[in-house]
Amino acid sequence: EQKVVLITGCSSGIGLSLAVHLASNLSKAYKVYATMRNLDKKQRLMESVRGLHKDTMAILQMDVTDQQSILDAKRNITEGRIDILVCNAGVGLMGPLEAQSLDAIHAVLDVNLMGTLRTIQTFLPDMKRKRHGRILVTGSMGGLQGLPFNEVYCASKFAVEGACESLAILLQHFNIHVSLIECGPVNTDFLMNLKRTEPSEEALEVDPHTRSLYDQFLQHCQTVFQNAAQDTDDIIQVYMEAIEAQTPFLRYYTNRALLPMSSLKLTSMDGSQYIRAMSKLIFSAPDTDPQI
Ligand code: NAD
Repeated sequence: EQKVVLITGCSSGIGLSLAVHLASNLSKAYKVYATMRNLDKKQRLMESVRGLHKDTMAILQMDVTDQQSILDAKRNITEGRIDILVCNAGVGLMGPLEAQSLDAIHAVLDVNLMGTLRTIQTFLPDMKRKRHGRILVTGSMGGLQGLPFNEVYCASKFAVEGACESLAILLQHFNIHVSLIECGPVNTDFLMNLKRTEPSEEALEVDPHTRSLYDQFLQHCQTVFQNAAQDTDDIIQVYMEAIEAQTPFLRYYTNRALLPMSSLKLTSMDGSQYIRAMSKLIFSAPDTDPQI
């Protein structure tokens, strides 16, 4: 029997790659419901599967910020069940906190946190009743450690960690496994899609010191993406490890190189070592505070 998988955010990036990978399984082990907020963007996914997968993939509209669209998607699942739920939809937000509108902040929380909760809430009762299911979530190193100029994104991803860890404790009693696939930088549209305050923006009314630190941060980001970004294929491999495991872990890390930084939070519980190390890593260029 095919495993029924529903994935959110499949118009690009990790969601698209995972949908294509599962739908291309030679023994047709998976039936993938590739969902996306805007069906006008389904072309890329359609081209990636070249129409070969009529019995392994269906595309559905689903906006994780719209409860009704989640319910509509659920109703359109002909098998009447989901074996594997993949909460992947997410957006970023970058810039000095004081330069961000409350609307922009709310929008990120609505997709990353509320969207994940809404999706899980909708499919959880059926999984519990069947005493069977997997919930996989695209997590982020930004959900495990703070990053400057990413306060809201990190808050949303930390919150998802809390929700998943909490659920994992309960759901083992229902034979439901929750796994976070913790990603470092990945080559996707994510950076292009995220709302970023441009340092040149007229409206960016922040002090010159913040502005110059933000410039340094953007430089750092660019370097990190150039040197360390993974391809979605690497992420999909880790996803498959979790999907194929008998008893999957709560957390999988796609990029082990990023772990030492994260572990500083454990070796120095007061937070000082992590803050110092991250600050040094990002802002090691000479401080250009114009006031000094
Ligand atoms: P992406 O921008 O290509 O994909 C995100 C997808 O989510 C897009 O298809 C977008 O349309 C969709 N989405 C946004 N709002 C939505 C909504 N309201 N309803 C449904 N779908 C919505 O980038 P990606 O890198 O593939 O991102 C996937 C996940 O990976 C995100 O949760 C992101 O936080 C996480 N992640 C990405 C990186 C990275 O560097 N790219 C690093 C760590 C974690």
